[in-house]
Amino acid sequence: MLRCPICIAAGLRSVVRDIRFTNPKLKRDHFWDEEGVEHFHDPSVIVTEYECSNGHHFAERSSWQCHVCGYRACEAVLLVDGKEVVTDPSAAESPCPPQ
Ligand SMILES: [Zn+2]
Ligand SMILES: [Zn+2]
Repeated sequence: MLRCPICIAAGLRSVVRDIRFTNPKLKRDHFWDEEGVEHFHDPSVIVTEYECSNGHHFAERSSWQCHVCGYRACEAVLLVDGKEVVTDPSAAESPCPPQ
């Protein structure tokens, strides 16, 4: 789920597109568990920049999520004008740190 935080605050609706993301320095942890199931865990923090159909720009710090077990190294943090915006209280436990 991703919606423009500026539109949410203004009560607007919009379509969001990603326009750019930083090339993460992959520190991948790729392994097969005791059951032989493949996991892809990566602690790298990625910054993705987004633009909404109302012309707002915002960014997100996040990490890859393992498609098998759902593991992710840290929780996504939205950034508006470089400031962190808390939209998901569960992210407060392990927010993705600045790179
Ligand atoms: Zn917007
Ligand atoms: Zn996994």
